[in-house]
Amino acid sequence: MKIIYTDVLIVGGGLAGLRVATGVRERGHDAVILTLVPPKRSHSAAAQGGMQASLANCKMGEGDNEDVHFSDTIKGSDWGADQMVARMFTHCAPKAIRELAHWGVPWSRVNRGDHTSIINAKKVTITEKDEAHGLITARDFGGTKKWRTCYTSDGTGHSMLYAMDNKAHEDNVEIHERLEAISIIHENGRCCGAIARNLMSGELVAYVAKATTIATGGYGRIYSVSTNAIICQGMGQAIALETGVATLGNMEAIQFHPTAIVPVGILTTEGCRGDGGLLLDKDGYRFMPDYEPDKKELASRDVVSRRMTEHMRKGKGVKSRYGDHLWLDITILGREHIEKNLREVKEICENFLGIDPAVDWIPVRPTQHYSMGGIRTKYTGESQTLKGLYSCGEAACWDMHGFNRLGGNSVSETVVSGMLVAEYISDFLESSDSDISIETKNVEKFLKIEQDKIDALLTKEHGEDAYKLRRRMEEIMMEKVGIFRNGDDLKEAVTELEELLKRSKNIEVFRSKSRAANPALVNAYRTQKMIKVALTVAYGALLRTESRGAHSREDFPKRDDANWLKRTIMNWENESDTMPTVSYEEIPIDSMELPPGFRGYGKDLTQHHTDTKVRQEVVDKIKSELESKGANRFEIQNELMPFLDKLPKKYRATNERFGENV
Ligand SMILES: Cc1cc2nc3c(=O)[nH]c(=O)nc-3n(C[C@H](O)[C@H](O)[C@H](O)COP(=O)(O)OP(=O)(O)OC[C@H]3O[C@@H](n4cnc5c(N)ncnc54)[C@H](O)[C@@H]3O)c2cc1C
Repeated sequence: MKIIYTDVLIVGGGLAGLRVATGVRERGHDAVILTLVPPKRSHSAAAQGGMQASLANCKMGEGDNEDVHFSDTIKGSDWGADQMVARMFTHCAPKAIRELAHWGVPWSRVNRGDHTSIINAKKVTITEKDEAHGLITARDFGGTKKWRTCYTSDGTGHSMLYAMDNKAHEDNVEIHERLEAISIIHENGRCCGAIARNLMSGELVAYVAKATTIATGGYGRIYSVSTNAIICQGMGQAIALETGVATLGNMEAIQFHPTAIVPVGILTTEGCRGDGGLLLDKDGYRFMPDYEPDKKELASRDVVSRRMTEHMRKGKGVKSRYGDHLWLDITILGREHIEKNLREVKEICENFLGIDPAVDWIPVRPTQHYSMGGIRTKYTGESQTLKGLYSCGEAACWDMHGFNRLGGNSVSETVVSGMLVAEYISDFLESSDSDISIETKNVEKFLKIEQDKIDALLTKEHGEDAYKLRRRMEEIMMEKVGIFRNGDDLKEAVTELEELLKRSKNIEVFRSKSRAANPALVNAYRTQKMIKVALTVAYGALLRTESRGAHSREDFPKRDDANWLKRTIMNWENESDTMPTVSYEEIPIDSMELPPGFRGYGKDLTQHHTDTKVRQEVVDKIKSELESKGANRFEIQNELMPFLDKLPKKYRATNERFGENV
């Protein structure tokens, strides 16, 4: 049996995992990354539209700063986010983006003088300042007050990931490819590493580490149609859950993206609408202004997805053999713009639909896209309940997105949280608190448990077909735990998923009994884990009797702050359990910088908490007193909700912008 020792084990070689690895290497610690695929093929490469950072370089970004970014993020989250974490994030995003530029990301830049943009279906001339020429520019995205989404055409994730991967190599990060973490080693509330399976040889390897970080991305593939890569199966969340100690947060918070192509579900970026693209119905009618007169196509993602679904339910969808859809029209942007700024979208349309988006409308429909929930952590990225286990990126519930994330805030989160978590891990490693003393025989026990499970799968006869169980799970999630949810469907979903979980204890590996490279075996052991993750989503959604952000209950349409201003926490207490255990974590209003309010979409149906009014009065009083004394925005912010002391010292400095004296 093979055991590898390291300071930091990072499960996941996407943007988040790579950024953590680079950070801890720079502090002098060893780091090993485990990844299913070569890092450059991680799902982060699929991110098209951009990364939010309040640089305020371009004309339409003028006036932007951390405060505006913070306010957009909290409203976007429908007040479900941790406001201190959101503050830490918005403060550090400009630093992270400049660092990436330094490491080679070719961000699209401001060009001095006039250029034409399409805004609200009209051509508008925008004049860029001379002094901003050559600085990082930004485009418009949903739910943002300013143009803040920085980009490299529509290949943002690709260029970020390539730069991060190169940096990790430069820093001598050890990368173990095609090594899949299948369980976490832990004893007495302390995480000590992970058991991994070599996907080529089938060998099991134990990695013992002082700190272990899960950066395995989201769990979109528990749905039958998703914009996510097929490796986004929630394995990181599942192995954390299976410890029985680590917890998951807000698993029911699932985002649907408005514009995935029909039928395959590949994404066309929000940048299409950010750059001026329109949504049209079967009559070629632009319907979004009727529903959201202010933000129109650029309302928050959850809102646009719901409005599209509503419109199709009214019979306004385009009939097709793959079900109803709507149109995304980017023809108005012109060929030159599409070939320069939306070139991946063009290729996707050509290769998967056989159309030219400079001439043809694109068939689109809302599709599962992002997992706001994940491994519940403290602001340091460490699990709240399992010492030495960290998580960041889409795998985590850190929790800056609450119940809906803004476009462009995710790749931004990966690099910001990665950069911060690397510092907190390094601090931990440099303290005596990080010592571990697990005996080899105990590590071997964990290896044996996993070996026995695999043996049982391979020797089982007359059992269940994992592919069928998984297919049914995906259908249940799509049909009953989708954009609009209701109690009856959710109850059925939970009952059926629990039944599938019971059946999954009897899985047989059909087709090949090989211990080495064997997709059927991989599917067999992942299916049960995926069903557990699906159960946490469906059960969390059933219990949350309100609508918040992307969680929309038709039977409970109000956002209910009085009863539901809390995070759902899921735990899997015993291996033999067939349901997760649920608890809740309060989101305290009395420390909020931005007390709960109206998001600005549709009618305000919020059932307010009694503490909201009290806190709003306190906030207003602090602001007016300090403003009358001539305090600046930083001093006021610090009085409302201090956060700088939580940041590593090197990231505390104020960000500089044009026209702002700091
Ligand atoms: C089509 C698409 C477009 C998007 N566009 C944008 C955008 O424009 N802007 C934005 O902000 N966000 C965007 N997002 C979201 C964003 O891309 C992701 O949230 C983000 O890239 C996730 O990065 P990550 O590092 O957390 O995980 P990932 O990039 O998903 O990486 C996960 C890593 O974990 C590894 N892994 C998984 N399981 C295991 C295991 N058990 N053992 C070992 N390794 C494992 C994988 O090999 C991979 O290396 C988009 C998402 C999609 C689906």
